[in-house]
Amino acid sequence: MRILCPDQFLQNVTDINLAELKARGIKGLLLDLDNTLVGWDSDILAEELSNWLADAQTQGFKLCLVSNGVRKRVKYFADLMGIPAIVPALKPRRAAFRKALNKLQLSAKEVAMIGDQLFTDVLGGNRLGIYTILIRPISKQELRSTKLVRKLEKRVLKRLIDQGCITYKDSDGGK
Ligand SMILES: [Mg+2]
Repeated sequence: MRILCPDQFLQNVTDINLAELKARGIKGLLLDLDNTLVGWDSDILAEELSNWLADAQTQGFKLCLVSNGVRKRVKYFADLMGIPAIVPALKPRRAAFRKALNKLQLSAKEVAMIGDQLFTDVLGGNRLGIYTILIRPISKQELRSTKLVRKLEKRVLKRLIDQGCITYKDSDGGK
């Protein structure tokens, strides 16, 4: 089960403490797109998120999208953000993570994977020893296949939280 444990579990991407990541030696962020940065099926990147991404870049973080989504859509957002993308990533397979590390010229220890799904983002990142941050999904609307996975994910999440493997921090920092 450890392999499914994210290092952090937060409500929003904007709750991520960049200074803390920097102190850990993290220099790059691998970002999931759908339901992490934008709502599933949404074409709009919220201003708050856009500002956060710009801030991360200003602070020297290298960013890369790692998405299992549709190439055209992912490329659109990558261009909008001015960052590279690995797509389709086929997470949790390790190849995409390796490609992203190669693109950013960083090692696994120097990046964090940020995403909303245990079985793709967290599992894939953990398999390579990458620091993983799980985010609550932006939108409840999803593909039917994802909905089925979510049911299982919910159960596993609950177990991991019960076991003390994960501590969820909401935006106020409490539990
Ligand atoms: Mg996602």
